[in-house]
Amino acid sequence: AKDSGRNTYRFYTDKMNIDAMERLRMRNGLAEALLKQQFVLHYQPQFDLNTLQLVGIEALVRWNHPERGLLLPDKFIPIAEQTGQIVPIGEWVISEACRQAKAWQQQGYAPVRVGVNLSALHFKRGDIIKMITGLAEQHDLDPQYIELELTEAIMLQEVDYILDIMQKFRTLHFTLSIDDFGTGYSSLAFLKRFRVDKLKIDGSFIRNLEVDSHDLAIVRSIIQLAKGFEMRTIAEGVETQGQLEILRREGCQEGQGYYFCYPLPAGQLSRHLHSATAQ
Ligand code: C2E
Ligand code: CA
Ligand code: CA
Ligand code: CA
Repeated sequence: AKDSGRNTYRFYTDKMNIDAMERLRMRNGLAEALLKQQFVLHYQPQFDLNTLQLVGIEALVRWNHPERGLLLPDKFIPIAEQTGQIVPIGEWVISEACRQAKAWQQQGYAPVRVGVNLSALHFKRGDIIKMITGLAEQHDLDPQYIELELTEAIMLQEVDYILDIMQKFRTLHFTLSIDDFGTGYSSLAFLKRFRVDKLKIDGSFIRNLEVDSHDLAIVRSIIQLAKGFEMRTIAEGVETQGQLEILRREGCQEGQGYYFCYPLPAGQLSRHLHSATAQ
C-alpha cells in the first residue's frame, strides 16, 4: 500500500511536470537554435492587385530543428513569447531580413521593401528604436525598405510611450503596418490613436469571402476605414482568383497569399524580383 501510494504521488507529479518539462526543453532548444543559427527565413511576395507588380516581401521565420525538421512559427513562437526569447529571435529575424534585402540589391535587383513581424515584447524590452536603426545601419539598408508589422497587442502597453516610438519610426521613414487587422479586441481604438501606413486584413476574413456576406461586409468596412485615414490595405491569405477579383473591386490595393506565391527560401524568389536596370 505504501508503494502504490508513492507511485500515485509520483504519477501525479510527473503529469503535472510535463508542461513545465516540455517548456524547459523548448526554452533550451530555442537558446541552442539561436546559438547554432538554426532559424531560417522564408519570404512571401506581396503584389499590387491591379498591376500585379511586386510591392513587398514578408519575412517569415522557421526553425530548422535538428530532429523534428522544419518547424513553422506556430510550433515555437508562442513559447518564445512566454519565455521572452522572441526578443533575441526577432532581432535575428530583422538582422537577417536586412542582410537579405541588401544582398538582393547588390545582386542587381531593384530595391524591394521587406516586412518583419514584431512582438509586443520588443516594445517592452530594451530600446527598440536603437536596435532596429542599428541593424539597418549595420547592413547599410535604407529604412524605407523596412516595414514593421505590429499587432494590436502592443496597445496593452502605455499609450504615450508607444505613440512616441511609432512617431519616431515614422520620422525615420520606416513603413508601419497593423498585422491581422480586425482580429484584435480594439481595432478602432488603435486607429484613433496610432498613425500607420497600412492595414493588413487578416486571412480569416478572406478565406470565405466569396460565399460569406458577413466577411464581405467586414472586408469592405476595413478598406473604407483605411481610405478615411489615407492608409493602404493589403489582404493576406489570398488563395483564389475569385477572392482577388472581389478585393480588387472593393478597392484593396495589395495582396499576398498562396494564389500568388507560397513563402519561399530567398534563393527561390528571384523569378519575382525585378532587375534594377530594366526599370
Ligand atoms: P502572419 O504574420 O499573419 O503571417 C501570415 C501567415 O499566413 C504565414 O504563416 C503564411 O505562411 C501564411 N499564409 C500565407 N499565404 C497564405 C494563404 O494563402 N493561405 C493560408 N491559409 N495561409 C497563408 P506562418 O509562416 O506559419 O506564420 C504564422 C505566424 O507566425 C505569422 O502570422 C506571424 O504572426 C508569426 N511569425 C512568423 N514569423 C515571425 C517572426 O519573425 N516574428 C514574430 N514575432 N512572429 C512571426
Ligand atoms: Ca505578418
Ligand atoms: Ca498577418
Ligand atoms: Ca494572420
